[in-house]
Amino acid sequence: MKVLVINCGSSSLKYQLFDMDKETVLAKGLVERIGIEGSLIKHTKTGLEPIVAETPIPDHKTGIKLVLDALLDKSTGALSSLSELGAVGHRVVHAGEKFATSVKIDAKVMEALKECVPLAPLHNPANIMGIEAVTEVLPRVQQVGVFDTAFHQTMPNTAFIYGVPYGYYEKYGVRRYGFHGTSHYYVSRRAAEMLGRPVEKLKIVTCHLGNGSSITAVDGGKSVDTSMGFTPLAGVLMGTRCGDVDPAIPMFIAEAEKLSSKDVDSLLNKKSGMLGLSGVSSDLRDIEAAAERGEARANLALRTLTYGIKKYIGAYAAAMAGLDAVVFTAGVGENSATVRAMVCQGLEFLGIGLDASKNKVRSKEAIISTDDSRVKVVVVPTDEELVIARDTKRLVE
Ligand code: AMP
Repeated sequence: MKVLVINCGSSSLKYQLFDMDKETVLAKGLVERIGIEGSLIKHTKTGLEPIVAETPIPDHKTGIKLVLDALLDKSTGALSSLSELGAVGHRVVHAGEKFATSVKIDAKVMEALKECVPLAPLHNPANIMGIEAVTEVLPRVQQVGVFDTAFHQTMPNTAFIYGVPYGYYEKYGVRRYGFHGTSHYYVSRRAAEMLGRPVEKLKIVTCHLGNGSSITAVDGGKSVDTSMGFTPLAGVLMGTRCGDVDPAIPMFIAEAEKLSSKDVDSLLNKKSGMLGLSGVSSDLRDIEAAAERGEARANLALRTLTYGIKKYIGAYAAAMAGLDAVVFTAGVGENSATVRAMVCQGLEFLGIGLDASKNKVRSKEAIISTDDSRVKVVVVPTDEELVIARDTKRLVE
């Protein structure tokens, strides 16, 4: 079966076409600047050079049509006809408490996703637009929704409730939801396979460290706590997001700088984190280079980031009453030997021993702990699209 995976943003659309009989990617691409001047599609058939075409793309429906044209193209495509397409799987950010697993999309599911818009006002409307565009262009193809929040629905209420009046949980759904669930699910399973042990028997801390970062306690294969919260702003320091701060700080800044709540929201989401601290960049490569040149604030940002990650590992080992493995994934987790080394340094008391030469790995699956380390340290490149394609195939069959 061929499955198209779509990750739709407000002005962009990423896609991958899978052959699920072999679990291989046949083609992938990106539609950018939808509804904005300079819109384009970048399409790559596996094994060929990418092709970029600039063309007006006023809406998501036009974007989907272009993707299908590219997939059907004789030289750059990977489908001989649309009837070969078995299903379409969508990444959807927020399912609130409505779905704890992936689901086939129907009118009821669409209603539920619309009800979740207040919880993810930037993301869910774009995801919904993507589903509606596919429905218009491919009315007979089954679609599946795979949710960032679903994996974390197993968290106990002690981990997800906040110390604000309980009525706000009942009235507005104010609670911890957590994100990157598909990634935490995938890397915890893959790490267990690499260690040759059943995930049900393991206590794992998964560290998804990218532009957005989150850390999850995976006990027996289930998420029992995670660092992102009601929104993806909480947790460890991120590229431009502040992560955990004293909740009184936003109010203080708003008053001191005479800013609206919208301005403060933007400040904490777009100008904080590694960028705000270092004053250099949100990109860890730039920060590592600046720290190496001796720039004090870049060095501070790097140390603050890794100190925060270390504290989460300790906290989640306590939450699970044990620790068998720490997994690193996403742009920073897969690539930065510096961050991994700084995080693991000092955690020997927990049973973590990092092997400095094995840690040199980049973007590859590897066990990077010493042979006698009681807690295994593992690098797993994440593959959220593959999980979406697998769930889509399973539900459609
Ligand atoms: P993601 O959001 O998962 O795409 O991750 C993006 C982050 O990964 C950016 O902060 C990049 O700087 C970081 N990253 C990518 N490659 C490297 C690398 N070779 N070394 C350090 N950080 C990297």
